[in-house]
Amino acid sequence: MGGAFKIGRFSGIDVRVHWTFFLLLAFFAFVGYRTSGSAVGALTSTLVIVVLFLCVLLHEFGHSLVAQRLGLEIHSITLLPLGGVSNLESLPEKPADEVKITLAGPLVNVVLAPIFFGVGLLLGAVPRMPADVFTGIGSVGQFFFYLGYLNVVLAVFNLIPAFPLDGGRILRALLATRLGAVRATEISSAVGQLFAAAFFFIGLLGGNFLLALVAVFIYFGATGEAQMVRQQEQTRGLSVSDVMGTKPRTETVTPYHTFGQVLDSVIHGYQEDFPVVDESGKLVGMITREEIMAAAHSPERYSSVRDLMKTNIPTISPQADLFEDGLRILQQSGLRALPVTENGELVGMLTIEDVGQASLLGPLPRKTGATAETGEKERT
Ligand SMILES: [Zn+2]
Repeated sequence: MGGAFKIGRFSGIDVRVHWTFFLLLAFFAFVGYRTSGSAVGALTSTLVIVVLFLCVLLHEFGHSLVAQRLGLEIHSITLLPLGGVSNLESLPEKPADEVKITLAGPLVNVVLAPIFFGVGLLLGAVPRMPADVFTGIGSVGQFFFYLGYLNVVLAVFNLIPAFPLDGGRILRALLATRLGAVRATEISSAVGQLFAAAFFFIGLLGGNFLLALVAVFIYFGATGEAQMVRQQEQTRGLSVSDVMGTKPRTETVTPYHTFGQVLDSVIHGYQEDFPVVDESGKLVGMITREEIMAAAHSPERYSSVRDLMKTNIPTISPQADLFEDGLRILQQSGLRALPVTENGELVGMLTIEDVGQASLLGPLPRKTGATAETGEKERT
């Protein structure tokens, strides 16, 4: 995810914070200062947010560590102003695994809540909820008590069956055992969207803008994930070579091409990303739309493709799985096209459009089907 930077690493998982999170801290410090009129007030509300997000982080580690135990790879956990996101390499295939991974998150908050309540009470907190984070926290004990309360809220809110919240994931997993992943995701995301619409209006009418904002994220999260599962199902079993642009259909350039020649190809051709190959057909790099557009402003500064091309680019094998590997590498690298290579030699190019088309076309004629077809043609 863009705009996030690493703050630490635990159990092989990078912990990242999105820069907008600091806007949230600044906002709470500001409102805390304005309502209380003191630096202590500003510090208290900021500290509540920091500790609350530590709890969110532990919640995400709950998901991630169980997922690791079940053999899934976790890249990173990213903290956003509205919560945390665990970036899993792939989604669990077995519904029972998804339930375990999902439950582990809220369970962390269920464990943390009584600890915070206990510490709060030991420090002399009165068991009541403060009106808000800006004015209601008068003592250290009350601070801990409030965090206990926030952990209860985290656990309860996340267990609402509004997909993609944790509760919605559990609903999906339960439905998936009978209906299959696609149908289960469709139903749970429809339920998630209903909840989102309800939260949105409740938030708007009740003046709770945070709830309205969360509703928007739930809505788009549900839509996006349903789409992804549908795409995954439709491209299941397809390999990169089933949809890639084959070598004769892929325009390549050499490191010695001039920038003007590449620009000409972009303007008069259909490609925007070009694999760079040397005389022997070996892939040496790639020149993408990004470099071309940046250089187009001052073309005189760049003489050849060699000065502009990206060199450390990921490649993919034609046999690789289209969705699991192809789409994943495209998304992770941020590239719109990937060179497809076999033993270092270019055999084609896979673009983000190729992947999109594969899922739009529905079940494609597989490799074997295509050969059967040509065989028939030869006979007639
Ligand atoms: Zn969760």
